[in-house]
Amino acid sequence: MKYIVKVKKERCKSCKLCMDVCPSGVFKLSNKFNKIGYHYVEVIEEKNCTGCKRCVIICPDVAIEIYKEEEI
Ligand code: SF4
Ligand code: SF4
Repeated sequence: MKYIVKVKKERCKSCKLCMDVCPSGVFKLSNKFNKIGYHYVEVIEEKNCTGCKRCVIICPDVAIEIYKEEEI
């Protein structure tokens, strides 16, 4: 099963909780700022995502969404 990881970067406040709980090293903090002045999280290893949703549950700013990729 493949998963798609989406970060709404304009919501991210750089708390890094998602990076702490992700067991698969999917996230990295960007060098760039979002519109509200925070370094936002980027998805660097989407292929490693296991769909555990720890990141979705822990993000205080509801910035992360996980989708199952449809098998064709
Ligand atoms: S669903 Fe799990 S494996 Fe995937 S990015 Fe979130 S914490 Fe990491
Ligand atoms: S948990 Fe949410 S707000 Fe915190 S760094 Fe991750 S995406 Fe950004």
